[in-house]
Amino acid sequence: MTRIKDKEERVDRSADIDIAGATAGMTGSAGISDIGRTKQRMLSTANPELALSIYNELQAHIEELEKKTSELEQANEALSELDRMKSEFISKMSHELRTPLHAIKGFTKLILRGKTLDLNTSKEYLAIIDREGEVLDRLISDLLDVSRLESGRFRIHKRRTSLKSIIRNCLGTCAVLASDKGVVINEDIPATMPEVEIDGERVGQVILNLLSNAIKYSGDGGIITVKSEVKGDELVVGVIDRGPGIPEEAIPYLFERFSRVEDSAEIKGIGLGLYISRQIIEAHGGRIWVESELGKGSSFYFSVPVPLSEKEEVGRRIPR
Ligand code: ADP
Repeated sequence: MTRIKDKEERVDRSADIDIAGATAGMTGSAGISDIGRTKQRMLSTANPELALSIYNELQAHIEELEKKTSELEQANEALSELDRMKSEFISKMSHELRTPLHAIKGFTKLILRGKTLDLNTSKEYLAIIDREGEVLDRLISDLLDVSRLESGRFRIHKRRTSLKSIIRNCLGTCAVLASDKGVVINEDIPATMPEVEIDGERVGQVILNLLSNAIKYSGDGGIITVKSEVKGDELVVGVIDRGPGIPEEAIPYLFERFSRVEDSAEIKGIGLGLYISRQIIEAHGGRIWVESELGKGSSFYFSVPVPLSEKEEVGRRIPR
């Protein structure tokens, strides 16, 4: 009896030593694994099989815990990045909103105070106020569109439409902007084009975005070509410029939210136009893409499907 008790005491003492060792191990990098090893040593004396099974179970828990920790770390990093992007966006957006607002306020004050302003100068100031008002309107519309897209409230209303007349309207809208910048816009549009099932306003928004980008990034003396053609089942529209072009590595991200090429930092923009354009075109079952070479220019294209009946109709109208 005494001997048995002696033996139990020996086991207890060895356990004390092992626990002390495990506690010391916890301060090291592999503390939890040390406890696992210690427990295995403790139990292996009494029941080696049970010890191994507990050890394996513990090891599996540790691995699971490590995996979850790494997932949490990644999620945390992604959240921090989103947070950083959000702050950057708010500061960029405030700046973009403030610039036209300051111009509107400044020129309004000049008109109100300038008792001796002649009619031409007043008109010039009013034209600036009008233009800057448009900029504000576009920025706010882009923001509302993004918010609708993110919340799934973005809707398009398709109707059979002549894309040709939409392209023409957009060219008219951009005429002043182009001539102010000394940019020439050429048209390469066929006399007859099939009608397509589109939301004319939204597709017009895409064309305006591509055109205003081409003008904006081309700079003085630029030449832009707007072309359209039927290719297979699609009607393809292209806006081609001879501007600075886009670096190859930036192209895969160009249609993402807030994507801006670093080189264009001095040109106004918040990187939402192409993102919204892609969403609009994809909502029509079409595609949007860019071909570009640095120093040579960029060609932006989008396509929308041609309804089968229209293809037959156009096939009859245009002899090949
Ligand atoms: P924004 O022009 O407001 O920055 P966009 O989404 O319309 O936003 O364009 C995203 C980025 O793509 C621009 O910041 C610019 O770097 C690049 N980009 C777009 N169009 C052109 C173009 N025609 N030529 C050169 N770069 C362009």
